[in-house]
Amino acid sequence: MKISKALKTLVLLAIVVCSNAIFAQQPSTYQVHSHNDYAQEFPFWGAYVGGAASIEADVFLKNNILYVTHSEAEILPENTLERLYLQPLAGLARTGDLRKLQLLIDIKSDAESTLEALVQELQDYPVLTQSENLKWVISGNRPKASAYKNYPDFIEFDHQELDDLDTIDLSRVGLISVDFKNYSVWNGFGNMVAPELKKVKEAIAKAQAVDKPFRFWGSPDTKITWTRFANLSVAYINSDVPAQAVSYLKTLEQNTYVNTKKVEVYTPEFSFDYEDKPVNVILMIGDGNGLAQITSAQIANRGNLTLTQLQDIGFSKTASTDDLVTDSAAGATAMATGTKTHNRAIGVNQNDEKLKNITEILSARGFTNGLITTDAIDGATPASFYAHRKERDDTEGILSDLATSGIDFFIAGGRSKAALVPDIFKVLQLDDFVDLNGKTAIYIGENKVPSIAQGRGDLLAQSVKQSLEILEKDREPFFMMIEASQIDSNGHANNTAGIVQEMLDFDETIARVLRFADKTKNTLVVITADHETSGFGIISGDLKTGELHGEFLTTNHTGIMVPVFAYGPQAQKFRGAYENTEIFQRILKALEIVP
Ligand SMILES: [Zn+2]
Repeated sequence: MKISKALKTLVLLAIVVCSNAIFAQQPSTYQVHSHNDYAQEFPFWGAYVGGAASIEADVFLKNNILYVTHSEAEILPENTLERLYLQPLAGLARTGDLRKLQLLIDIKSDAESTLEALVQELQDYPVLTQSENLKWVISGNRPKASAYKNYPDFIEFDHQELDDLDTIDLSRVGLISVDFKNYSVWNGFGNMVAPELKKVKEAIAKAQAVDKPFRFWGSPDTKITWTRFANLSVAYINSDVPAQAVSYLKTLEQNTYVNTKKVEVYTPEFSFDYEDKPVNVILMIGDGNGLAQITSAQIANRGNLTLTQLQDIGFSKTASTDDLVTDSAAGATAMATGTKTHNRAIGVNQNDEKLKNITEILSARGFTNGLITTDAIDGATPASFYAHRKERDDTEGILSDLATSGIDFFIAGGRSKAALVPDIFKVLQLDDFVDLNGKTAIYIGENKVPSIAQGRGDLLAQSVKQSLEILEKDREPFFMMIEASQIDSNGHANNTAGIVQEMLDFDETIARVLRFADKTKNTLVVITADHETSGFGIISGDLKTGELHGEFLTTNHTGIMVPVFAYGPQAQKFRGAYENTEIFQRILKALEIVP
């Protein structure tokens, strides 16, 4: 045991010595207090390296030595204040590496004598008492408030009362702390009940009114607590896991989004006949669009989406042949060809042999085929609907496959690679796309199409609307694949705002498509995802304000099933839980086509 502890200490010290960068790091906007720090495996260092802004040491005076302990009975001879706190602090201060820090000294023995011993001991360390970055705050057993002023200037006090603030000398009060349990019985999950939240807010306001930093002790120690306290502007957030709290709170802002742009929800008519054979098929793929992504947009849109009006719902199992967690290439290939393959493969099986894809099958039967995406045209999802390559990064090979493909038009990013697209594709501006004569390429971005955050506006919905107007005129039957590709990229970036914005844009596009389906009554619409991205979860939010707080398991895709929504004739075929290859199979079954 001793050896392993010594080893651990050595490893930690090595980390500490080698990582001056860590010391240069400022604490996050929210300040975390390391409660009972002396009880940690590595007192001081764990909290300091972890970014805590305040560190608490319980101190007991015995035989004129200041021990760090909760009680006299628990004194360990080696655990002196000097060894565990003063020496490391002095070391950092001498090399100029000490960042801003509050030391909360919680006196467990007699107030006056312990404080006197502490003052004496600190005076041996002028580097600590004179440091502008250090604040010494006395908590626990303290002298009367009227005696605060009798101590040297570097000593401040933790005042633990809110009702006498207008009667005492506040000049030496460095912190106000109160016991959370006097205000609420909240366990740190869900929400505080309203009357308790009111009391908590009033307590915080009293400290703020006299311009003093505030802390609750005895509070729950959960992510939700840290979040609520941060939002309530509690100056020091109490935690027994300070490094975790700091790293969590650092992501708070990026993970929180308040949506201001509500999108219109379209209510579909359901006036088609389920038993009809559909004429047209529109497959809509939200890349990385799992259930949490959809729910996040639904919350941001104050509780409702067009997508969630649909009634024929299933789940797609997305694993590829070589990985439980698929990439977009294998995911889209499964939907485009009905065959599972290895990650990175575009339209080929796991032995890299060409697979017949749905646009080839349908073009041989007189369908017009179109692709619309916010990705580049050679992105893995659109590529799987026309190309046959074993490697998704084989841009040249993928784009050359357009020549022999069943694709009649595409609207996509990728202008910068247009020279690689076979010249049988006539290049048009979107505005000039009013009818379809020969194969047509429309570029709406250099590489990827700009994101919503970059100002894409309603370009996706507009592209879909224009295409449907053309197809409706004289181009039935048709197959169209529409991809909202940037739900995925924002998942990879762990960007809550981006996920919500791109999903809401997808929903507006879905509304466009459903209006068309209602008008024609002969169009089967299937809306799904190739996989989920980021293990996105929603930990809190507000349906009234459109606020949403997300969290992420990973920056990669995940293996969780994704929802499938269907609308139009034969939509009932898409109920249940099935492999992603069934999307292809069931579309062809709906069309009564045997490939
Ligand atoms: Zn991805």
